[in-house]
Amino acid sequence: MAARMLAARPFKLVSHLPSMHASTPLFARQISMDAKGFASRLVDAGLLRSQALIGGKWSDAYDGNTIKVHNPATGDVITTVPCMGQNETNDAISAASEAFSSWSKVTNVERSKCLRKWYDLLISHKEELGQLITLEQGKPLQEAMGEVTYGAGFIEFFAEEAKRVYGDIIPSPLADRRMLVLKQPVGVVGAITPWNFPLAMITRKVGPALACGCTVVIKPSELTPLTALAAAELALQAGIPPGVMNVVMGNASAIGDALLASPQVRKITFTGSTAVGKKLMAGAAGTVKKVSLELGGNAPCIVFDDADLDVAVKGTLGAKFRNTGQTCVCANRIMVQEGIYEKFVDAFTKAVQKLQVGHGFSEGVAQGPLINEAAVQKVESFVKDATSKGAKVVLGAKRHSLGMTFYEPTVLSDVKSDMIIARDEIFGPVASVLRFKTEDEALRMANDTNAGLAAYIFTNNVQRSWRVAEALEYGLVGVNEGLISTEVAPFGGVKQSGLGREGSKYGMDEYLEVKYVCLGNMSSK
Ligand code: ADP
Repeated sequence: MAARMLAARPFKLVSHLPSMHASTPLFARQISMDAKGFASRLVDAGLLRSQALIGGKWSDAYDGNTIKVHNPATGDVITTVPCMGQNETNDAISAASEAFSSWSKVTNVERSKCLRKWYDLLISHKEELGQLITLEQGKPLQEAMGEVTYGAGFIEFFAEEAKRVYGDIIPSPLADRRMLVLKQPVGVVGAITPWNFPLAMITRKVGPALACGCTVVIKPSELTPLTALAAAELALQAGIPPGVMNVVMGNASAIGDALLASPQVRKITFTGSTAVGKKLMAGAAGTVKKVSLELGGNAPCIVFDDADLDVAVKGTLGAKFRNTGQTCVCANRIMVQEGIYEKFVDAFTKAVQKLQVGHGFSEGVAQGPLINEAAVQKVESFVKDATSKGAKVVLGAKRHSLGMTFYEPTVLSDVKSDMIIARDEIFGPVASVLRFKTEDEALRMANDTNAGLAAYIFTNNVQRSWRVAEALEYGLVGVNEGLISTEVAPFGGVKQSGLGREGSKYGMDEYLEVKYVCLGNMSSK
C-alpha cells in the first residue's frame, strides 16, 4: 500500500490535484480552478478528513496501510484513507457498544436536538459537501448539492420522528393484568453503503438509527469515503457523542465479516449489489441479526398510448439519467406501447441529445463520468450484446470524446426482453427502449424479473394507473413522475431487491425492537 502522501492532519491532498487533462485544456482549467478554490474552504471547515473515526478519535489503519481515493473525472488521486480490517472494526464495534449504553438512555428530545444540529450543519455546508461529492463521485455539482439537501432531509425528518417512538397499551383480556408494548433501540448497527449517493445512503440509515437510540459503525464505499468522513466530522461538531457514530473503511470483506461475526452488532443495514446483500444476509444468520437490504433493481418504465408525451419524456429522462444512470431506481427498461412508440423515441432522443456531458464542476453539465473503468466496460458489454441481437442504436453507444470514464448518453430502440440489457441493471447512461402491445403484456414483461424495487408508469387513464400500480410487483411506483424518492416516503424493494424500508415512519421500525411487558396481580388492593 502507498505510504501517506502528506503528513498534515486532518487534511492531506496530493499536490497534483487535480492534474491537467492534456487533451482537453479548457475542461481541465475549469476543474483546476474550481477544485483549488473549494479545497481551501473544505480545509477551513475541517471537512477534508483522511482518517477513520473510532470512538470519537480520528485514526489511521493500525498497520499504516492506505487506499487511494480517485477523482473519476480525471483519474487523479485526491488523497488516501486508511485501509482497515478486522482489528479496527472490532474496536469500532466496542466503541459503539460502550456508547450505546449511554446514548440509548438519553431522552428522545435530546437525541432529536443533536440530530437537528447535525442537519443544520449539513445544510450550512451544503456547497462544500456538494463539491466533495462531485470530486470523489463525479456527479454534476448541482446534482451533488441536491443530494446534500436530500440526504440532510433524512436527518431532519428522523430528528422529528425521534420524539414519536410510541409504544402501545393493549386492552387486557384478563382483569388482573395490564399489557403494554415498548419500542427499544436494537443496539449497535453495522451500516454498509455504496458510492452512488455518498451522503444520502448514509443519512437514511444513520438518521433513524440514532433517532431510535442505536449507535453505528459505518463502512462507506472505498470509492467515496470522503463525504462520509465529512459528515462524521459535522456529527461530532453537532455534539453527537464520541462512539455513537464510527466510520471505518478499507478491506470490505474483512470489515463486513467482523461486523457479521460480532454478537454485539444487532443489525446490519446495507445498500449495494444483490450479490453482496445475499452474502450479508447469510452471514447475519450466525448471530441472528436484524437485516435491512436495499439491493439491485431492474426498473420498468411503462409509457402507455394514452400518456402525455411531454410528461412521459421528462419523467423518463429524470428516471433514466439521474446520476448518469447510476442508481438502483433508474429506468432500466423503457417499455413503450406501439401506438406512441415512434413519437416517444423521437422526442425522448431529442431530449437526451441536449444532456451535456462533462466534469461535474463545469457549468451546465448534466452527465458526469461513470464511477470507474469496470462500470464503462459493463455498459459496453451490455450494449454490444443488445446490438448483436438486433437492438438499434438511435444515439450514442460509445465512449465520450472526453475520455476517462465518460460515456455518451445513449438510446437503443428495439430492445427485447431476453437481452442482457433488459435483464440486468445497466447502471449507466443507456436508455433501452422496448415495445409492447397491450396492458397485460406490459405487466407480464414488467414483472418478469427477480428484482422489484422501482417501477414507473405514464398514463392519463386514472383507472389504469390504479390497476397497473397495484399489479406491479415493486416496492415503489411512480405514476407520471420519474423522481419519487423522498425522506417522507418508504423506500425499499420486494423479491430480490431487498428487505425493509428506509425513510418515513416505516424507516424507524428497522432500528427498533418490540418489547411486550405484562404487569400481573393488578386488580388486588
Ligand atoms: P457496487 O457494485 O455498487 O459497488 P457492492 O455491493 O460491491 O456494490 O458495494 C456496496 C458496498 O458493499 C460497498 O461499501 C462495498 O465496499 C461493500 N462490500 C463489498 N463486498 C463486501 C463484503 N464482502 N462484505 C461487506 N461489504 C462489502
